[in-house]
Amino acid sequence: MRSIIFQKRGFFYLIVPKIMVLLKITSASNPYKSRVFCVWSKPYNRLLIGTPGSGKSMLAQRIPTILPDMTLEEAIEVTKIYSIAGELDANTKLIATRPFRTPHHSASAVSIVGGGSKARPGEISLAHNGVLFLDEFPEYRKDVIESMRQPLEDKKITVTRAAASYTYPCNTMLVVALNPCKCGYYGDGSDRCRCTETEIRKYLGKLSGPMLDRIDIQLEATPVKYADLKAMKGESSQDIKKRVNAAREIQKERYKNEAITTNSQLSGSLIEKYCEIGENESKMLKNAFDSLGLTARAYTRILKVARTIADCDGREKINEMDIAEAIGYRSLDRKYFG
Ligand SMILES: [Zn+2]
Repeated sequence: MRSIIFQKRGFFYLIVPKIMVLLKITSASNPYKSRVFCVWSKPYNRLLIGTPGSGKSMLAQRIPTILPDMTLEEAIEVTKIYSIAGELDANTKLIATRPFRTPHHSASAVSIVGGGSKARPGEISLAHNGVLFLDEFPEYRKDVIESMRQPLEDKKITVTRAAASYTYPCNTMLVVALNPCKCGYYGDGSDRCRCTETEIRKYLGKLSGPMLDRIDIQLEATPVKYADLKAMKGESSQDIKKRVNAAREIQKERYKNEAITTNSQLSGSLIEKYCEIGENESKMLKNAFDSLGLTARAYTRILKVARTIADCDGREKINEMDIAEAIGYRSLDRKYFG
């Protein structure tokens, strides 16, 4: 089974086997296909936007299969949470595969973030070390979406009941998928979309600015054409996984004296310490901010993604190309949410 990536008109396209999804990666600057894969497989929150039938949810389901294997420690953490939640069946001693949770859009805030009379862990914690996938994202209740903001930032959630309070981890990769508008065809190049501008804004507006800031990577999915599939050379998912694990080792070594293990966990002064950039890179970021109207939170997210891109290439120093690529991953801010 092979995944395929190719470049066309300045965009990168990723074909994930079996599901035949064509993913347009909005980065025009990346000359190395391996880096695209490498970043794709890192624990960043991401948003998939695309017309109905473009394969967004099938793509999301594949994410856990290209993530690095769980360490024993991670597996124990996950198993504990399932045990507390009463979701561990009697024959399972250890959950060894990364969780993939897909709560329905009618789910309550308590079932997503945890709580209730038994202070049960929510979906966000049941997806710890794995993926929480919210399909048709704008259909979720606003209070549910907002309740996830802080836990996603803190990577833990404290739920309280009368007698005591419990803290559950939620180092969870959030993947949200949505259509570009209510009918689904806005911006697809045809004139099928009949939504008014107000309707489109209302639909996309459910993904509030602060929530959008917590998304590191935005991707547009488009249905694959058979002609594009032919004559493409791919590489095995085994090779991809090797590179993924190598970049992970670099991070483990770098953060051995810190309380974190991956770039995505960097915050505050650690960002300054480990994501140092030169004058040219700073200038480039500033220009992007002015033209794309990005927020301060988006700034640190771009730096963290740039750090990972450099790691995937085995480079200690973040260069201009890394910054440009990381900015590219946020370019949908303006197209859909500007
Ligand atoms: Zn529409």
